[in-house]
Amino acid sequence: PASVGFMNEPVTDFSRAQNRSAMYDALATVEENLGNNYPLIIQDREIFTDETTLSINPARPEQLVGRVSRANRDQAREAVDSAREAFVAWKKTSPQERADYLFRAAAEMRKRRFKLAALEILEVGKTWKDADGDIAEAIDYLEYYGREMIRLGQATMPGAYPGEENLYFYEPLGVGLVISPWNFPIAIPTGMVSAALVTGNTVIFKPSGLSSVCGWHLAEIFKTVGLPPGVLQFVPGPGSETGEYLVSHPEVDFVSFTGSREVGLHIVSVAGKTEPHQKGVKRVIAETGGKNAIIVDETADLDEAVRGVLDSALEYQGQKCSACSRVIVVDSVYEDFALRLQRSMNSLRIGPTDKPWNFFGPVVDQISAQKIQKYIETGIKEGNALLAKPGPENGFFIGPHLFADLPLHSSLVREEIFGPVLVLLRAPTLESALCMANDSRYALTGGVFSRSPQNIQKVIADFDVGNLYVNRKITGALVGRQPFGGFRMSGIGYKAGGPNYLIQFMHDRSVSENT
Ligand code: GLU
Repeated sequence: PASVGFMNEPVTDFSRAQNRSAMYDALATVEENLGNNYPLIIQDREIFTDETTLSINPARPEQLVGRVSRANRDQAREAVDSAREAFVAWKKTSPQERADYLFRAAAEMRKRRFKLAALEILEVGKTWKDADGDIAEAIDYLEYYGREMIRLGQATMPGAYPGEENLYFYEPLGVGLVISPWNFPIAIPTGMVSAALVTGNTVIFKPSGLSSVCGWHLAEIFKTVGLPPGVLQFVPGPGSETGEYLVSHPEVDFVSFTGSREVGLHIVSVAGKTEPHQKGVKRVIAETGGKNAIIVDETADLDEAVRGVLDSALEYQGQKCSACSRVIVVDSVYEDFALRLQRSMNSLRIGPTDKPWNFFGPVVDQISAQKIQKYIETGIKEGNALLAKPGPENGFFIGPHLFADLPLHSSLVREEIFGPVLVLLRAPTLESALCMANDSRYALTGGVFSRSPQNIQKVIADFDVGNLYVNRKITGALVGRQPFGGFRMSGIGYKAGGPNYLIQFMHDRSVSENT
């Protein structure tokens, strides 16, 4: 069911001069304030720690974006205590009241829209368009989940039975831990945090160290709109220490995670251990990776297909779990498609994305760059590099790469690379293309370019993915329109931005009274 009155936030039209100058101004203001110190937020206290995480601009590593405090075990424990204490009253606030905090946060984000986008550009290397889209998506989550909670707050048990009154309703789980990634540095944590809060849980929010200045701004927005102290704590710190401690803490009732498959699986195993006095088993909601494929058949409009594959594979340098990393092309159009794709990939402008004419920016950090580089070396050994483009020297740039003729067991064909590396595969028929597409542990997004209604129906029926896109790019799911999430190794739980998402942050209760 559509959530009453919800509409997607429009994206900014940068063809208008006034929007361009607003963005340039925001970039200048954010740049002037770089290098600040950011505290933890526990209850209503701001805590500056000696140990900090340095967040740097991946396009200009000499530029310090911010110095963010790191929670040790004691502070993490305090955060849990504070969340536990605040839960008592927060649980009793009405769904409407909780939703109102989300609506106010959305209004606050609209006011800060350009500044938040500018910060993303400098902290994680998004383009103007992607950064702006991320803030729009964050606003969408707030507006959508607020409305969804109001809807779910009216849950009833249909049917009238003489002598019996039945009630059916939802209650929050308790204290939740939200661990968010850097690739959608405002939207994804906003979605996870707001879902947990609006359903009546109190939250400990641990952002990725690579986007923790963005994370701090999110926590601060909730503070600005008057969220009661203790309902949300901002607790950044290394996963191996702070994260590990919090995931295993017996007073944490659930973990909501978006990130890599490895970390997701580790969280599932740690969260599954119960201590002797622990009251419940932790619930884990995880959105993890993808090895997403687009199929191009012999009837496809190649102009559309090239553009769709290019955007899906290379927007944000391929660092989206929804990104296309395999393109499977039917034999008869393979050569033509390969040439056109290679040429269009080769034509992209690469450089720092604070300049709006650069489509293609840096990858997020040195570790990512090295990991992607290893795959590229393997690709050169095992296959045929149709395109291997270097990026600018300074900064963590890796240009777009296109590989063909790889063996199907190659790590490039099977593993999530999370970078601008695309693999081209040749299939004799649509059936074999579908077999190849489904030959993966992941099942997140997928796409098909085709003008044959029968082929499209076949792909809809047989392509095992959470989000399938027909004749369009496979990234950029919109809240309330394309609920987003996968299955198999791509995640556990219901789709974000969809009608079942909030339910997993609650348990349902049933009361029957003999009247
Ligand atoms: N929701 C995003 C999309 O549809 C991807 C989210 C992610 O990479 O985690 O492109």
